[in-house]
Amino acid sequence: MYTDYKNHLTSVLNEIKEAGLYKNERIIVSPQGAEIELNSGQKVLNFCANNYLGLSNNPSLIEAAKTSLDDHGYGMSSVRFICGTTDLHKELEKKIAEFFNTEDTILYAACFDANGGVFEPLLTEEDAIISDALNHASIIDGVRLCKAVRYRYENADMADLEKQLQLARAQRFRLVVTDGVFSMDGNVAPLDKIVELANKYNAMVMVDESHSAGVVGKTGRGVTELYNITGKVEIITGTLGKAFGGAIGGFTTGKKEIIEILRQRSRPYLFSNSIPPMVAAAGIRMIEMMTETNVLQDKLHWNAEYFITAMTKLGFDIKPTKSAICAVMLYDAKLSQEFAAKLLKEGIYVIGFYYPVVPKGQARIRVQLSAGHQKSHLDKAIGAFEKIGKDLGVIN
Ligand SMILES: *Cc1c(COP(=O)(O)O)cnc(C)c1O
Repeated sequence: MYTDYKNHLTSVLNEIKEAGLYKNERIIVSPQGAEIELNSGQKVLNFCANNYLGLSNNPSLIEAAKTSLDDHGYGMSSVRFICGTTDLHKELEKKIAEFFNTEDTILYAACFDANGGVFEPLLTEEDAIISDALNHASIIDGVRLCKAVRYRYENADMADLEKQLQLARAQRFRLVVTDGVFSMDGNVAPLDKIVELANKYNAMVMVDESHSAGVVGKTGRGVTELYNITGKVEIITGTLGKAFGGAIGGFTTGKKEIIEILRQRSRPYLFSNSIPPMVAAAGIRMIEMMTETNVLQDKLHWNAEYFITAMTKLGFDIKPTKSAICAVMLYDAKLSQEFAAKLLKEGIYVIGFYYPVVPKGQARIRVQLSAGHQKSHLDKAIGAFEKIGKDLGVIN
């Protein structure tokens, strides 16, 4: 039996390779950071991590994790409701709610699980979900697991959202769901307008702050802070795997009764293991740090502005962004691969994105800025972009 199936898989793998879509993983032998070492021995500057605040190798978080290994052990070997809840889990949930000014929080093993488990317990076939066309895969999967009627609006298109909300008046309850920052362009969802429309059509709002928490807004509290609408959305999801330390874990935070139902009914919460106490302990320390000082956000915002200004001045075509994501548009898939390969030779690690990750003819290099970058790192990257951009005829 396996022979036939093996041949089938081999031919699928070959198709992926022939289409130039095969993903190879580079192997890193150092901690995550602005400067990393690859297994080839090459040291490179990393501009493609979600390590927005440079916390992935932060000494204070490492210390908090180590301390908790001594006093809370390594793993929980249980889901939360059996014997997998420690004081650290409860404290982290409380701290996340305080940070976002919400009522309660529920932790998951990942934001993929938070999104996978949020819709099905809350909405039925009588209800409607109105979803942005560019929402993250985990939202799309979560919506699929739910029986609610689905409506889709074009990315950040408020006229289309209004049209869908009018159609969704046929259902009992309505939930509009959007990413806070869309990861391919770095654009921010117009959440102020979304909330306004939701109010007009008696709908609730959910925002996934995975790429915006810690990043967007003066103090990093995300898109609700940016638009001054803290407390005006019912559900926020987010990850501990990006700006917030980069280890693992996700959360849903929002209205008390919503979180309470999720604890009773959300399948990835009920049937999947508790996050390790060390991750909760480091998470608590991380939120404390963000509450004590704004230096990391300030540095990230300065770095993003500096890099984007310099690249624009050089003549690169940059997608409008309000986040720490800077999409350098090259349009051609092969060019984006070649450009990224040449940048790696210059010691700059970035990735070319092309179809099917982005629409055809929209190939780009996505640069992600971090508070962990020094000005010298930014200057080196800008210099490398200038050199290769001229070599390849992208800029003059
Ligand atoms: C990265 C990401 C996720 C998944 O987060 P994990 O915690 O890594 O599972 C979910 N939603 C969005 C918008 C993301 O960018």
